[in-house]
Amino acid sequence: MIETSIIGFSRGEQTGSIFNAVNPATGNDLDVQYGCASEGEVERACELAQLASRPMASLSGADKAKFLRSVADRIDSVVEELVSTMTRETALPEGRVRGETGRTSGQLRMFAKLLDEGSWVDARIDRAIADREPVPKPDLRAMLRPIGPVAVFCASNFPLAFSVAGGDTASAWAAGCPVIVKAHHAHPGTALIVGKIIVDAVREHGLPEGAFSLVFGSGQTIGQALVKNPLIKAVGFTGSRQGGRALFDLASNRADPIPVFAEMSSINPLFLMPELEEAKMLEIADGLFTSATMGVGQFCTNPGVVFYPDNELGAVFRNSFVEKMKTFSPASMLHHGICESYVSGIKKLSSQAGVEELLKSDRSANKDGSSLVRACVLHADVQCFLNNSLLSDEVFGPATLLVSYSNTDELINVIEGMEGQLTASLFGTEENIRKYNGILDILETKVGRMLFNQFPTGVEVCPSIIHGGPYPATTDSRSTSVGTASILRFARPVCYQGFPDEQLPLELRDDNPLGINRTES
Ligand code: NAP
Repeated sequence: MIETSIIGFSRGEQTGSIFNAVNPATGNDLDVQYGCASEGEVERACELAQLASRPMASLSGADKAKFLRSVADRIDSVVEELVSTMTRETALPEGRVRGETGRTSGQLRMFAKLLDEGSWVDARIDRAIADREPVPKPDLRAMLRPIGPVAVFCASNFPLAFSVAGGDTASAWAAGCPVIVKAHHAHPGTALIVGKIIVDAVREHGLPEGAFSLVFGSGQTIGQALVKNPLIKAVGFTGSRQGGRALFDLASNRADPIPVFAEMSSINPLFLMPELEEAKMLEIADGLFTSATMGVGQFCTNPGVVFYPDNELGAVFRNSFVEKMKTFSPASMLHHGICESYVSGIKKLSSQAGVEELLKSDRSANKDGSSLVRACVLHADVQCFLNNSLLSDEVFGPATLLVSYSNTDELINVIEGMEGQLTASLFGTEENIRKYNGILDILETKVGRMLFNQFPTGVEVCPSIIHGGPYPATTDSRSTSVGTASILRFARPVCYQGFPDEQLPLELRDDNPLGINRTES
């Protein structure tokens, strides 16, 4: 049987190339085959999305909220099917699938709540002053409106929460935008389960056909065709720096450039202050082990580099961490490409002058020949780190580079030269933090989220989370891809000047019928 794309309410034709998902735990092809969408089908999906744009933009917050809750309920109802398919496509354990299912439906409900409340549209009202001197002031009212059809690229490392009905899609729908999702080649079956239930929800809630499409196919062809299509108005992406940058460049070079919100690479540094006590050093080594190996290190917020003091206590931390990392059981990664990048990334790092392997990681083979990876710990001193930019490259997986420093001025140099990051964590006492305020001031210019005595993995989904940061963490440092503020990526401000009240959106009318918070003068 060959499964094809979902183009609105229809299924794609089987005309193009075919692929199988691969079970990363065995290296074997899974039984279902998937047909890649044709460029004509991508165009059709874009046309449907364009047709859906106006009806979606005029949906009330309450109607959008009902739809989002309905998708959430349906996702919860297929959890057993997801467990069966996603574990085989990704080698992720059942517990993770269940947890990510809950996170995905939880995100949809979070946006529904935001829409129920309604103030996210940032309504601003400046009433006319007819007798203002020297010129009258006109009536001006502004609010956020949907940007139009959005293309979403599924992430390999979050097959649910950053895929078909994940954060990008949920926030785009909440803003009132139709969505076309490009499935990730590593988990097409998971994508299809979610895609089918979304179509049911679109029909049941009377949304326009183009509110959702799901296309299978390679990034280079189908993905790029989507981003180049003039009907697409924004892009959401989570993945490699190379992929995100390629899509960003493509979108910037269109006759009408559009925003690309790509969340890409980050090494999420940890800074251990010099005055930490032994017990704290041991506690950090423990916590770092859990954080660095969680999900086989395949999280965007995985801590990839740790700066620690080059003193006796620093050595306690280093030795304890290496011992912990030795206990990590070899594990399968999400897909062959990620496994290859992990192995070659470590090889590149460990071959740099001054880099020492404290714990070697090599690929090992399962009985059936598929790949397993081990955890890896590397070491360099801070001068070596400062002199070689390759040491700042992300190695996606359970690898940590430990960098020893002699004085905190060196850390200032490190942070000044550092690329943009999703997170940075400072470990110290409250006294330390006062003493090293300079570090915090510079750090703030480089990251989306700063943590004090906490590890960066385990991203809380809530209004105040920021999952973003300056390039190359993302292509737009003003955005977050997690939390309620992620809706802002897919909305744009529109101003209405001098209109009669009845012609204005409800959010801007004089009597504020929705009862939302507004800025008024
Ligand atoms: P990826 O290779 O960037 O792929 C993500 C999606 O983008 C896939 O659908 C892919 O299509 C598409 N794509 C990639 N390059 C493209 C291009 N030039 N033009 C158009 N579409 C393109 O990421 P991945 O498969 O998730 O993992 C590969 C590496 O990315 C990892 O080893 C890791 O280094 C990094 N990664 C980082 C994060 C993070 O958050 N920091 C998360 C995941 C992965 P295909 O289906 O054709 O591949």
